[in-house]
Amino acid sequence: MSIEVSKIVQGVEPSATLAMSAKAKELKAQGETVYNLSVGEPDFDTPKHICDAAIEAMRAGHTRYTVASGIPELKAAVCADYKNRFGLDYKPTQVVISNGAKHSLHNAFFATLNPGDEAILPAPCWVSYAELIKLCGAKPTIVQTREEDSFKLTPEAFRAAITPKTRMLLLCNPSNPTGSCYTCDELLELAKIAVENDLFVVADEIYERLVYDGAQFTSFPTVLDGLQERSIVVNGVSKTYAMTGWRIGWLMAPENVAKKISSLQSQETSNPCSLSQYAALAALQGDQACVAEMRAEFEKRRDYVMSRIAAIPGMSAPKTGGAFYVFFNIRNFLGKDYGGVRVETDKDWCLELLQQKKVATVMGSAFSAPGYARASFAASMETLKTAFDRIEEFVAGK
Ligand code: PMP
Ligand code: GLU
Repeated sequence: MSIEVSKIVQGVEPSATLAMSAKAKELKAQGETVYNLSVGEPDFDTPKHICDAAIEAMRAGHTRYTVASGIPELKAAVCADYKNRFGLDYKPTQVVISNGAKHSLHNAFFATLNPGDEAILPAPCWVSYAELIKLCGAKPTIVQTREEDSFKLTPEAFRAAITPKTRMLLLCNPSNPTGSCYTCDELLELAKIAVENDLFVVADEIYERLVYDGAQFTSFPTVLDGLQERSIVVNGVSKTYAMTGWRIGWLMAPENVAKKISSLQSQETSNPCSLSQYAALAALQGDQACVAEMRAEFEKRRDYVMSRIAAIPGMSAPKTGGAFYVFFNIRNFLGKDYGGVRVETDKDWCLELLQQKKVATVMGSAFSAPGYARASFAASMETLKTAFDRIEEFVAGK
């Protein structure tokens, strides 16, 4: 007997970012030196005081189930953080701690979208949003943005995408994969349209601490009174504190939504790892110098990568304002032969770049933006330098 996979799961695509990273690791296991700019994950170690807190928690016996929606101390710390930095008032009952921000997003979609509902996704958009929305039986409405607009959703494009079935807008700010950041005024224009059309907004703010050029990040619910009631904010420790493997993220939502998500999580996964929660608590409450240091290093790398792209004739990318990605236009490099292999699409280009030059990037089509590629600069300067030397050689046919 063969087990048939359900219709809804049959449609799920694997995460392209993780798939490219797996390919790079495969080549590495075969003994190749690979320059991996595919997966978006800080190359820094988790700061020592955070690791120490997890060890202490283990020794103190915090090794049992916790409250399914997270330990009260961490929820309180999340509320205090958004209050201190953005002036937003959240109660701990509005916070749900989950197994990474990806899980928080899944919870948010699953708890709010009904089959047939439409959710607007400005593209280029991170690989998991559309798949997670489809898993709820809802429909992602992909709205293309333009490189000339720094890949930001314009009020006109937002309005034009709304139908009677639209319920939600997903806003990733700073954006994965483009690195674009919305200004307060831009967010306000989008917020007004959401209110006029009675939509709610899922604001993925996972990269908010990684903004460059001295920019001030604006948290979405701050731009208009009453917006907290129609927003679900997602954040976590993975990117800010180099804690991708610890799997702690959270959402902040209106109380009725958070309560139902807590019930859902209590049935599905129970609490996220107890020790990781104590580590996340130490991250939020401890010295923030580590964040400033990592941010400064990312900014240096951002400058370097932008200069390398600018130096390649025919290649372009809007300036990355936040997160640790550069999203570059490779249209001028398609429809050509590379070492005797015909390269027609962005996927072919990224695969050949990996095959021939051992540089791993992610194809734009995985982010609903064919003709582009994403490189993560969460890699050492040395890796970035060699990777871009090789990209330069590759497009020059060397
Ligand atoms: N949102 C965005 C935009 C991301 O890039 C990521 C990275 N994986 C996540 C959410 C999920 O983060 P986490 O590792 O905490 O699940
Ligand atoms: N968010 C990261 C990325 O875009 C991690 C991989 C993933 O979770 O898909 O590369």
